[in-house]
Amino acid sequence: MEKLIICTVCPQGCRITVTGEGSDIASVSGFTCARGEAYARQEFVCPVRILTGSVRTCDCAEPLLPVRSADRIPRDKIPECMKILRTVKVKPPVHIRDVVVKDILGTGVDIVASGELAGK
Ligand code: SF4
Repeated sequence: MEKLIICTVCPQGCRITVTGEGSDIASVSGFTCARGEAYARQEFVCPVRILTGSVRTCDCAEPLLPVRSADRIPRDKIPECMKILRTVKVKPPVHIRDVVVKDILGTGVDIVASGELAGK
């Protein structure tokens, strides 16, 4: 299998070609730096993304609190993570980087606040 990956690590946007099967990579070409090669290998084997979203609040004027994953999580787990976030409600006070959901879906990654909710 051959996959063309546009590197998003920097604005240069190199077009990187990876060949292989599953987690066995046979060749990587088209990258300009080691960071790009690592990115392409990760994208080929298991694409990961930072999740961003929001959760509902209670006992405050703001209806939603923006959240994000503290690290990248497998892209194929993002829809299930979003389902979990739809069930979460937080109360103030909440500070930036407070953990909203610990170890979401057993990924080892926490969902943290990316905004603040002031207490009354
Ligand atoms: S391979 Fe390196 S230079 Fe090219 S887009 Fe990726 S990070 Fe930038």
